[in-house]
Amino acid sequence: MGSMKEFKGIPVSQGIAIGEIIVISDPDAPRTAGKSTRSGGAEAEIKALRTAIEEAVEEINRLRGSANAPEDQLEIFKFHQMMLRDPALLAELESRIRDGMLDAESAVSAVFGSRIDAMRKIGDDYFSRRDKDLLDVKRRLLGRITGGRINMLDHLMKPVIVVASDLTPSQTVTMPRKWVMGFVTEAGGRTSHTALIARNLGIPAVVGLGGVLSGIESGMLAVVDGIDGRVIVDPDEAVLADLRRKRDEFASREESIRKKIRTLPAETPDGHRIRLNANIEFPSEIKLALEHGAEGVGLFRTEFIWAKTPFPTVEDHLSIYKEAIIALKGRPITIRTFDLGADKVFEGIGAKYEQNPFLGQRSLRLCFRHVDMFKDQLRAILMASYFGNVKIMFPMVSSVEELDAAMKILGEVKQELQDDGAEMSDDVEVGAMIEVPSAALIADELAKRVDFFSIGTNDLIQYTLAVDRNNETVAPLYQPAHPAVLRLISHVIRAGEKAGIDVAMCGEMSGDPRYVVLLLGMGLRNLSMSPAMISDIKDLIRNVDMDRARTLWREIAGCNESAKAEEALSRFGADPAAPSIGGKGARKTKKRLTRRTAGI
Ligand code: PEP
Ligand code: MG
Repeated sequence: MGSMKEFKGIPVSQGIAIGEIIVISDPDAPRTAGKSTRSGGAEAEIKALRTAIEEAVEEINRLRGSANAPEDQLEIFKFHQMMLRDPALLAELESRIRDGMLDAESAVSAVFGSRIDAMRKIGDDYFSRRDKDLLDVKRRLLGRITGGRINMLDHLMKPVIVVASDLTPSQTVTMPRKWVMGFVTEAGGRTSHTALIARNLGIPAVVGLGGVLSGIESGMLAVVDGIDGRVIVDPDEAVLADLRRKRDEFASREESIRKKIRTLPAETPDGHRIRLNANIEFPSEIKLALEHGAEGVGLFRTEFIWAKTPFPTVEDHLSIYKEAIIALKGRPITIRTFDLGADKVFEGIGAKYEQNPFLGQRSLRLCFRHVDMFKDQLRAILMASYFGNVKIMFPMVSSVEELDAAMKILGEVKQELQDDGAEMSDDVEVGAMIEVPSAALIADELAKRVDFFSIGTNDLIQYTLAVDRNNETVAPLYQPAHPAVLRLISHVIRAGEKAGIDVAMCGEMSGDPRYVVLLLGMGLRNLSMSPAMISDIKDLIRNVDMDRARTLWREIAGCNESAKAEEALSRFGADPAAPSIGGKGARKTKKRLTRRTAGI
């Protein structure tokens, strides 16, 4: 005690966690060259390196045997093994250890780092593809040398607060979640992957902390304050006692709202019924979602299936979908097809290095390159429709042609299943996510082709404002209330209404208390969000008349700057009775909104 440190960041998942830190190293971060610390010096380092190489080759053998991978993927695995067995590589690594007196990790980092840089400089398609391979092999090798230190998340045995520069999607989806009490990352923003996972699981999280890692080590005691966006390391007794009290108060307040409201409908006092669904990444989250009062699953992100088993078989998919369907007991589920690439999992798909992965081969585009993989997933979703209320949703649609191509493949799969006599529902609804500005602008055309839309604001904001959703340095520019974003959302809602199709929203904006009333005023009636937010959002809805919501939207629609819109939203949150109509229950609402807007 006595060396208490406090860091400020972006609060992305409410609640307070107190516990021991585990620092997860980033295999891609530049490393400070480390001298050998193994007793036995250079020879011990070389032995560790050689063992790691053998283990990595073995690991790939297992992958080659188990993955339902297409021929080209098997070729990639073979190529990785050849790289690992390359005598020139081994010689270079050993000389770095002997002559440079480096430890094995640093030697691997240095040698692979300079090879990767050289490949990237060539800028040619073939070489940039190899660069991805080098990165894969480097990660695998470092994982083995550090005895899984990098992948330590796979082996957690006690409750911890996970601290990292950043976490990869595969790290977050494969970690044993029951041991994770809180997340702290140097990178990231409100809609980055770690933030989404933390919110879905109801785990307190603070991201975008910049240089937090330099001051802390595994084993230290820390408090993650996901309400005010603070991380306190080595807290002194008084601070700790204070935060314990805050933690308990928060938990019991949430619990009492949840209990009170769980079985009540999400309906405004003037009788407008809103549908509240949950976003999930794992079927196991459904239990929690139902406890929070979810009416179904509005977004099942399926990328975790890939993270666990690249190129999953139809059976792999189907068993997971069935698990979700059983847990939902007849409630609807919208399964989104693979949204791989960019910020999502892509390891193992053999994607080439891209300068702008967010504008590159991702999502539907990647599915079109791996049609068999795409078809396997569609086949499984259609087969699952026999057991429950299943809808299909395509992510990242950006043009009519893309949507038509996806629909055509879906039609082929349906036909093949019918030819095989497989059982499935004959009216599976198909929807498109609207998360690219081009899709929002041609929503009228897309609406002719699908049964529903779901607005993905996480990406829609990023692409509309040209602001990376994961980059903490531009986080203040990531503005949901920017007039361009609101106009696009409103345009999509109108296009859906005109075409008579349902318009939902599954981006984080729909679970954010600051924007929910505004969204109702804009005409949205179907919101999908992190399970933990459902009770709070329902409470909000049950206390605001639709008239008030419409007035709010009229006011905000007149704001030509985000800051002005945010000001108007804060004024509304602080006093829903002002500036015009009084409305029922205004006093009660005022108190509740104030509490919530103070949160995230
Ligand atoms: C979105 O982009 O808003 C969305 C819901 O999808 P994801 O966060 O998975 O990209
Ligand atoms: Mg998205």
